[in-house]
Amino acid sequence: MLDHTLEDWRNRAAQISFRNKAFIDGKFVDAVSGKTFDSINPANGQVLAQVAECDAADVDLAVAAGRRAFEDGRWSRMAPGDRKAILLKLADLIRANLYEMALLDSLDMGKLVTDAVTVDAPGSAHFFQWHAEAIDKIYDEVAPTGPGDLALVSRVPLGVIGAVTPWNFPLDMATWKSAAALAAGNSVVLKPAEQSPLSALRLAELAAEAGVPDGVFNVVPGFGQTAGQALGLHMDVDCLAFTGSTMIGKKFMEYSGQSNLKQVWPETGGKSPNLIFADCENLDAAADMAAFGIFFNQGEVCSANSRLYVERSIKDAFVEKMIARAEGMQPGDPLDPASKMGAIVDEKQTEGIMRFVEGGKKTANLVAGGERAYVDGKGCFVPPTIFADVAHDDPLARDEIFGPVLSIIPFDSEDEAVTMANDSVYGLAASVWTDNLSRALRVSDKLFAGTVSVNTVDALSAQTPFGGMKQSGFGRDLSLHSFDKYTALKTTWIKYQS
Ligand code: NAD
Ligand code: MN
Repeated sequence: MLDHTLEDWRNRAAQISFRNKAFIDGKFVDAVSGKTFDSINPANGQVLAQVAECDAADVDLAVAAGRRAFEDGRWSRMAPGDRKAILLKLADLIRANLYEMALLDSLDMGKLVTDAVTVDAPGSAHFFQWHAEAIDKIYDEVAPTGPGDLALVSRVPLGVIGAVTPWNFPLDMATWKSAAALAAGNSVVLKPAEQSPLSALRLAELAAEAGVPDGVFNVVPGFGQTAGQALGLHMDVDCLAFTGSTMIGKKFMEYSGQSNLKQVWPETGGKSPNLIFADCENLDAAADMAAFGIFFNQGEVCSANSRLYVERSIKDAFVEKMIARAEGMQPGDPLDPASKMGAIVDEKQTEGIMRFVEGGKKTANLVAGGERAYVDGKGCFVPPTIFADVAHDDPLARDEIFGPVLSIIPFDSEDEAVTMANDSVYGLAASVWTDNLSRALRVSDKLFAGTVSVNTVDALSAQTPFGGMKQSGFGRDLSLHSFDKYTALKTTWIKYQS
């Protein structure tokens, strides 16, 4: 993809026509209220599109369409091989429209188009393909009862799945939820984040083109407090899959209790620790990945390695390595292949990040970044920012900042490092760097996180489950385990003359 120029991407961007209506029952429609909201490009402040602003009335229509489709079986009772073929076609269509899908996310939320076209958009296609391929390979069970009894234990789809997703990986978060939910035979009503609704709307159109029947996959763009809450409180939504902040994840648990006890699967925040031991032989590789772990996607990653614990004997040298990498990753136009970091999603998030940075200047040692940046005098940009010698209980080291801000904290012993790493309300991911095998395994055992990466960061694949512990939420996306969220176990017991 390196052969694309800024001009190539600008030309492609100029040709996109944005899908800006809700997608309900197989059609693009205006919001019932007729209202719209602006979808903004944070790299320059331009309004990309006026998007249908759905609220409870539109959510009702989408859920009803999803329910009708589920009840008449047009998808839920389709032969597994046929459902598979349609979702494989969707994966192909995403690949066929790869540049457009990548641009939609880059323009809408500021990520580097080079990342979107090599990571996000191919990832979406891959995850649809992976879940599609699983559809006709998962067998149900026969329970070990005696003669005269045949007890079948099968997995059945739940019905209508509500999915509410964040803006940091708009297409991939929409995909993680809907690929598994659709593969299992459910209907889906997706509410993408208001900061970045455009790729989900195009995804719905591609799904229809692939043959997903009307009503099975609906997208209702809008705000959290209206459309999101309406899905959470809906009496006819069977399951709510959420990715976003811990605060809103808790709200969805409340909505469920206030309504129909729908299953809620929150995938929420993180403050992931990365532990560098002096016996790690390749400290340059560790520094490269530590920088990637916090600065990739502008640090707007739920599993971002935002706490870097470094053994004191190598701390000063490692801080120097991190400063050098930060200097090499300055933000620029997200469409420019030469840029090393994109724009922050919006003004509010940028201001929130800068509040943490200003606070940190009073309590810790700023060694890189620290001032808001502009590209061509515009936009929401924060350079890679590093604080060294951060106290373990400083807000910098405790709170999720969700931006390119790294806290480096020295440690003296393995026990101390593990204790500090686990001293967090979150438990999403953790990393360990050491070439001592026993230490790698011992520390991995003790780290309380959904994913522990050893001598890498943020290990992730379609084949392995992703999700958190503690207030990072529960439930797992990706892997065959993701089907647990979107299916119920059903026992069918048959008596026969033996
Ligand atoms: P957010 O919680 O503000 O918003 C997420 C979604 O919830 C959006 O669609 C939003 O419209 C909706 N929402 C907001 N308020 C709502 C309300 N009152 N009722 C119903 N819905 C509401 O999060 P964000 O700022 O979009 O995303 C950043 C957060 O997402 C971070 O905390 C990050 O860690 C988390 N995240 C987690 C994972 C994971 O897998 N664990 C992945 C990506 C992001
Ligand atoms: Mn936007």
